[in-house]
Amino acid sequence: FADRDGYIWLDGQFLPWREARVHCLTHTLHYGMGVFEGLRAYPTERGPAIFRLQEHTRRLLNSAKILGMELGYSAGEINDACVQAVRENNLASAYIRPMSFLGSEGMGLHADALRTHTMVAAWEWGAYLGDESHERGIRVKTASFHRHHVNIAMCRAKANGNYMNSMLAAQEAARAGCDEALLLDVDGFVCEGPGENFFMVRDGVLYTPELTAALEGITRDTILRLAAEEGIEVRERRLTRDEVYIADEAFFTGTAAEVTPIRELDGRTIGTGARGPVTERLQRRYFDVVQGRDPRHTEWLTLC
Ligand code: PMP
Repeated sequence: FADRDGYIWLDGQFLPWREARVHCLTHTLHYGMGVFEGLRAYPTERGPAIFRLQEHTRRLLNSAKILGMELGYSAGEINDACVQAVRENNLASAYIRPMSFLGSEGMGLHADALRTHTMVAAWEWGAYLGDESHERGIRVKTASFHRHHVNIAMCRAKANGNYMNSMLAAQEAARAGCDEALLLDVDGFVCEGPGENFFMVRDGVLYTPELTAALEGITRDTILRLAAEEGIEVRERRLTRDEVYIADEAFFTGTAAEVTPIRELDGRTIGTGARGPVTERLQRRYFDVVQGRDPRHTEWLTLC
């Protein structure tokens, strides 16, 4: 992935993709203290547009604040770098990855006198969980690894080190022949996917876990807003895995995963095993919004 054409924004300037390198003593590589974002730009009638750019940048800056990192860039500068990364790489649609990390000026856990570096890369990335996932849904396995305790890892931060836990869960699910994992919190309640928030539908009511150890997903927020517009009743509360087994519908949300139906959890078919009507309705609204077909939410789009 490092050996390809294109341009990556690193510390204020664009470098050829292959030259955007770091040293092997880069502090974040050793200890995982860093913050990142994942955004998507979608093709619209007026060209590529980044979905909810301001909210993603705000979350990046908030993640840095939580970890006590100084990025040295304003929200406006990060926003510009994201827009430019799409333009410089001539992308009609894109996944955009800003990341801030500590440099290689020294070792040690105090991490004092280290420079903070910031990068933004952008590339084409299709459906995260496979081409058929949006329509057919995916098979999910409850992870044996719990999601972080809120006072062990800072879950409001989209922090690099938090993702070791996500990867353990995702790889465990893949080894069991499933597409994705569902992580429970330390009390055993449903939390989120490795990179997705979770929703389920039962008797026409949409449920999602309240935010404790789960990331404050921007797609989650979008779906909650769209559900309200659709007149769908929403309840945010603790959910148990056996409630999911008997749900009518379930789906994951995330910038990468978008709105992906879940057709099976732990070998139990969810509902009819097909994408359910509420999921389909919200999924259609979501794609209309991100692709600029919904005039009600053009304020969420930043043209590149
Ligand atoms: N939870 C985790 C752990 C994630 O990594 C992500 C992806 N950023 C999400 C939820 C969904 O967040 P968003 O909708 O903002 O992409």
